[in-house]
Amino acid sequence: MWTDFTYQAAPMRVTFGPGRSRQLADEIDALGLGRALVLSTPDQEPLAQRIAAALGSRSAGVYPKARMHVPIETAHGARQAAQDRGADACVAVGGGSTIGLGKAIALTHGLPIVAVPTTYAGSEMTPIWGLTEGGVKRTGRDQAVLPRSVVYDPELTLTLPIDLSVASAINALAHAVEGLYAPDASPIVSLMATDGARAIVEALPRLAADGTDITARSRTLYGSWLCGAVLGATTMSLHHKLCHVLGGSFDLPHAQVHTIVLPHVVAFNAPASAGMRSALQEVLCADDPASALWELARSLGAPTALADIGMQERDLPAVVDAVLREPYANPRSPNADDLRSLLTRAQRGQRPQP
Ligand code: NAD
Repeated sequence: MWTDFTYQAAPMRVTFGPGRSRQLADEIDALGLGRALVLSTPDQEPLAQRIAAALGSRSAGVYPKARMHVPIETAHGARQAAQDRGADACVAVGGGSTIGLGKAIALTHGLPIVAVPTTYAGSEMTPIWGLTEGGVKRTGRDQAVLPRSVVYDPELTLTLPIDLSVASAINALAHAVEGLYAPDASPIVSLMATDGARAIVEALPRLAADGTDITARSRTLYGSWLCGAVLGATTMSLHHKLCHVLGGSFDLPHAQVHTIVLPHVVAFNAPASAGMRSALQEVLCADDPASALWELARSLGAPTALADIGMQERDLPAVVDAVLREPYANPRSPNADDLRSLLTRAQRGQRPQP
């Protein structure tokens, strides 16, 4: 029972529904903005151009150079483009990489962001920014980078390949899991984490069977919104720390790393967090949530071994050292042996064990 907590609501507007991205011009007007620079990855440039065309005079053009982990050179280029083209806002259409580029502009130039997420990563709901310089990724929290408005349009996720959809949705589940035992958890966070996880667990098998199922896409996007809100509202623990080190230092794909590591962290933390354990038992309809998550990923064709996404077993000691070097919150303190054994199981794709 909750008796003592703090909850800070994020001051943002959320609109949700199939076709909502076609009303972006109204959204720009409602927010009192003038001309927005539309950001995307090179792959998603055709979508960004369509959105810019629909914005008409409210568009300051397209900057289609977003890349994973926001290299500082890309951030400089986008900031310059926003300035040169007289933009007073950004529309970030894409996943965490594109929204991350919008945040890089907001951080130094204060331009408000309208985020139009097309993956389930959840960056649009957080004040967390990341920038990579000289191979080192720095992250921080700043309310200036929190999007002013988020437009969720499940139709834009129809093109997200099934394998990436599954990994991205399990990435969202990871936010819910760590929100359930966060040191700054609260009743609202627990409600969002549980309902978000439930929506994703219910819809993901249907989405994986048919990527054009708009109901399953809507439900998964709804779940990822709630899980992203949990990420924005709480301090993440061991799981996000491990994934940050693995992804940042070894350039592994973000969503897949989360997918592989999550069941192992759930197995490790379950004995120390009755709340997380019982919430996941209910959501996954299983006594052993760690195994159920691992089975879910396997049954949907997601990777379960770090070895399969390019990690070398000889590099695991460096991950253990990096994780032990910096303090972070976690319901159970891992020592070097715990981390070695957790990572070795993840490396080899073995079933999770407490
Ligand atoms: P991503 O944004 O890198 O996208 C992955 C690929 O999918 C890209 O090539 C993109 O063009 C493509 N893509 C995206 N949506 C698509 C769609 N609907 N159809 C077809 N292709 C599509 O991947 P991501 O997992 O969303 O984001 C990962 C990045 O975001 C990492 O750098 C991570 O650190 C960051 N992130 C930050 C936060 C935060 O709060 N700051 C939260 C989550 C992730």
